Amino acid sequence: MSQWLHDFGLEHPLVIAGPCSAETEEQVMDIAHQLKDTDATVYRAGIWKPRTRPGNFEGVGAIGLKWLQRVKEETGMLTATEVANRAHVQLALEHDIDILWIGARSTVSPFIVQEIADALEGTDKIVLVKNPVNPDLALWLGGIERLYTANIKKLGVIHRGFSTYEKTKYRNNPEWQLAIELQNRFPDLPLICDPSHICGRRDTLQDVSQTALDLNFDGLMIETHRDPDNAWSDAAQQITPDTLVQMMKDLQIRKTTDTTADYTNKLDMLRAQIDVIDHSILETLGKRMKVSVGIGQLKKDHNVAVLQSKRWNEILGKMILEGEGHGLSEEFILRMFKAVHQESINHQKRVINN
Ligand code: PEP
Ligand code: MN
Repeated sequence: MSQWLHDFGLEHPLVIAGPCSAETEEQVMDIAHQLKDTDATVYRAGIWKPRTRPGNFEGVGAIGLKWLQRVKEETGMLTATEVANRAHVQLALEHDIDILWIGARSTVSPFIVQEIADALEGTDKIVLVKNPVNPDLALWLGGIERLYTANIKKLGVIHRGFSTYEKTKYRNNPEWQLAIELQNRFPDLPLICDPSHICGRRDTLQDVSQTALDLNFDGLMIETHRDPDNAWSDAAQQITPDTLVQMMKDLQIRKTTDTTADYTNKLDMLRAQIDVIDHSILETLGKRMKVSVGIGQLKKDHNVAVLQSKRWNEILGKMILEGEGHGLSEEFILRMFKAVHQESINHQKRVINN
């Protein structure tokens, strides 16, 4: 666990909750009072909302910062909001917001991140960097480095998933392996999962949150609203404070492994990593078979035989060499690719004989 989490007395897992957007003073205060005695220790609310398309609610603006100050006074919770330029940072500092986060649409832009880093230089704010919208680990790391270079040392990251062209069951595909890689490289950097923006809907929040905890994330940021269906932004993914309380009860929270890195905790984490990788192997194999079907169709249209031995022997030779580079034995590569090839032929045959 990172030092600043510890210094702020923030428990494991850190829970950040609150509405996607601050809407009215009364809404902000009502939700805050409902969250006051729950596991949530940090109150989030978007004041300036980056919208993908214009015409949606773009946030209440600076007035909302006063409401967040009231939240802190009345509930003792820490406060957090998104900043996306120098002016936002200055206003957030003036209003004593505890935690600033950089949104996914800002992390993609080194210019914006640099502007924010420059505006923060010399302060000791806690800054959380959301992953960029596209699955680019270097861009995410670059954002963290820019802040670190500006002497911002209380840093953390938020994993909110990555947008994809293909429609999946997620609003933003988790691509867990990227977060795992980041965690392996920077084990002391607090890693917080934002299941709300990964899921984009309520019914899968629990499952994604559990995966995050199994993967040893340090906390969760969950959008919480008193009347989710009528929220001014991200209505489908928000939950009520009561649902949040129930969710936290149902989650299996694993011990962190600071000094007593015991066997079962480590094992659970490694197994969770394996599950993520196995899942992506299956997904990749599925995609490969779809391409095979396309080839089958083409062969059918041109009246060409399914089995093309020359091509197959070339693939095999190449894969054995490539596999060696990954520490995989020739015997394994042969067995695996024979099975893959057979499945591929079966798919093509089905197309051709139909
Ligand atoms: C948000 O947290 O409300 C938000 C806009 O998130 P993101 O930057 O992850 O899309
Ligand atoms: Mn949101």
